[in-house]
Amino acid sequence: MINLSTNVEEVPKIGVAYAKKLKKFGIKTVQDLLFYFPARYDDFSEIISVKEARQRLGETVCIQGQITEIENTNTFKKFMTMTEAVIQDDGAEIKVIWFNQPYLAKSLHEDDFVCLAGKVSLYKEGIYLNNPTYERINEIGENEELTHTGRIVPVYSETRGITSRWLRYVIKPLLYRFCEQIPESLPEEIIKKNKFLPIQEAVWQLHFPDSFEHADASKARFSFEELFLIQLNVLKEKIKLMVKKAHACPMDADLMKSFTDSLPFQLTDSQKKFAFAILKDLEKTVPMSRLLEGDVGSGKTVVGAMAALNVVKHGHQVAFMAPTEILAKQHLKSLSESLKNFDVRIGMLTGKDARITDVRHHTNGVMSDIPPTFEVSKKSLLGDLENGQIDILIGTHALIQKGVEFKDLALVILDEQHRFGVEQRDHLIKNKKLVPHLLSMTATPIPRTLALTIYGDLDLSLIDEMPKNRKKVKTIIVEPSQRKEAYEFIKKEVADGKGVFVIFPKIDSTASKLKEALEKHGPMTGSASDSFIPQNYGPISLSSLAVNEVKALKEEYEKLSKEVFPDLRITMLHGKMKAPEKERIMLDFKKGEIDILLSTSVVEVGVDVPRATIMMIEGAERFGLSQLHQFRGRVGRSDMQSYCFLFTTSPDQLNRKRLKALVESNNGFELAEKDLEIRGPGSLYGTQQWGVPDMAMQGLSNIFLVEKTRAAAKELLEKDPTLKDYPALKERLKEFEKRIHFE
Ligand code: ADP
Ligand code: MG
Repeated sequence: MINLSTNVEEVPKIGVAYAKKLKKFGIKTVQDLLFYFPARYDDFSEIISVKEARQRLGETVCIQGQITEIENTNTFKKFMTMTEAVIQDDGAEIKVIWFNQPYLAKSLHEDDFVCLAGKVSLYKEGIYLNNPTYERINEIGENEELTHTGRIVPVYSETRGITSRWLRYVIKPLLYRFCEQIPESLPEEIIKKNKFLPIQEAVWQLHFPDSFEHADASKARFSFEELFLIQLNVLKEKIKLMVKKAHACPMDADLMKSFTDSLPFQLTDSQKKFAFAILKDLEKTVPMSRLLEGDVGSGKTVVGAMAALNVVKHGHQVAFMAPTEILAKQHLKSLSESLKNFDVRIGMLTGKDARITDVRHHTNGVMSDIPPTFEVSKKSLLGDLENGQIDILIGTHALIQKGVEFKDLALVILDEQHRFGVEQRDHLIKNKKLVPHLLSMTATPIPRTLALTIYGDLDLSLIDEMPKNRKKVKTIIVEPSQRKEAYEFIKKEVADGKGVFVIFPKIDSTASKLKEALEKHGPMTGSASDSFIPQNYGPISLSSLAVNEVKALKEEYEKLSKEVFPDLRITMLHGKMKAPEKERIMLDFKKGEIDILLSTSVVEVGVDVPRATIMMIEGAERFGLSQLHQFRGRVGRSDMQSYCFLFTTSPDQLNRKRLKALVESNNGFELAEKDLEIRGPGSLYGTQQWGVPDMAMQGLSNIFLVEKTRAAAKELLEKDPTLKDYPALKERLKEFEKRIHFE
């Protein structure tokens, strides 16, 4: 017996082959399939007479009629077949042409009644219906049971081998059989309060709506529900943590003062405010979960250092996690320097490298320079860690590997790791009684709606002030005609000893878009002006799909090093390189042994190269504003005037408007909100990584909905933390948690 949880493979119309394809959408069971919602609708609900249709040239119409002729014909182009038919009703007739569906002439016959929806077109001297969607009916006037025509028709996002037509054909009978069995997942009081459609009706109406109002009402329900599930997931974690205990580390005000006094600069007001807030959090036995958000260069590290120092002075340990080896090393250096007078033992562990800072050297009295760090064996480092001989361990993901045991971990600091923090803390807690505090630092601006949803278990602190010595980076959209001028400017800057970044967009996505287009429209020739095809890739052919990121980068490298800047030292950096190689290159660039660093967008975040003053970005329109803003943040890290040059490959006005926002604003937070407004929530960092489902994604641009779902989730969890009285909701949440995934 088939039921909602039956594997789709066992549904007769589906079978093994289709089940495999469905799995790619994450559809395994009948219920999953019923919850696979359309992306949009075609409105074929108005059925008109053939006579009327003939008057509507250029419009998409729906008609019903009887086939009087049907046959396959050959076309002028050999690779296409054509099926021609004539349909009539009430004495009026219209010609119909289908392309590349030769089987139609076998499945539709003369005298059959059909319902057709397609565009009325003109060919030579005749009017015809172009490639219509068709559906056989018993008689003219029948419109009760239509699936593909004569109604509002669902269109699903399709991938290879699965069409909307097939999905409709499979889903509809399943709805008839099983829709009534879908258990209501939302609590009754929520449905009443919000006047939501009950789940069964909502599922039905989402697939086969009676009207657009019905479809909207269903969407509203599921937008709410999906956001509500995210909120439940996040808040559940938060509640779980609230009952745990952490080390209380009272603030040592004198120590903090002597630390800030020892810095070569004054903290900004923002830094002071959040350092204080964090130090106050650390005094509590409730584990802190805080996200410190601030633009690149706003000085988050020093705030983290203060928290770390205060924790270390209570005799506990700190883990400081960075996303890459280069950044881990950078942190080792800067923490060793800023903590050099405070007798802190710092270690670093990455995939290959284990190092410690020689503090003895410093307690011996040489206080002026940076304490040396030296390599040790991994084993001895881990031994020291377990004995409590290391106070702060900096590192990459290597920190959460097996065998890394802290003696007394009280604080985890995560740099640029976003969401992942919670799971990483879970790793680090293992079977400890006390939970470490968590401080996550990021330069990725997170708009309020996201902060309240997928980051909703973290308290948010926003550093909105830059150190005073910074000059604003000048941002310029460079017209094609000004390219030469920009290159000349770069030469002058390099002659002055400055460094230049050139970012070249990744082309993987372009290649896949191209492939999609080829599949959809057939081969194209010479349409290199298409907006998604960068001009410098030349004419488009199937073989150019094989052009990969590295090759495109190499071509650009050739061009720059041979034609544009033959006298300058240019080096490439890309994601396919091994970490040590990348690191060597970054260091050479930092030291001034490389003039121009050409790289794909994968270049590490946060790397500090004060001598770099120009950030030049090719194909700038292909990046989100937040990402562009991040690139820009790599320059302007000294008191020298820096520049950001934006080159575009398409003259599109919308892009121009977007890029102008970047010229005008230097505020990452503002830019992220703008991205949200212009490109939608899907463009935001975090949403893809989290696998936020479509409906929730749409809801994410609606702050009221976000706040409402959050309040509802909070209220419910306070009443029933384990959801024991809401088994259907609990089940949905479980499935949902399996579906969304963390990177
Ligand atoms: P981010 O927030 O991007 O992590 P960092 O912590 O790396 O920024 O700081 C960038 C640079 O600014 C570092 O060299 C740091 O020493 C310096 N810095 C931090 N705070 C200040 C300040 N208040 N005034 C001047 N320079 C500062
Ligand atoms: Mg940083």
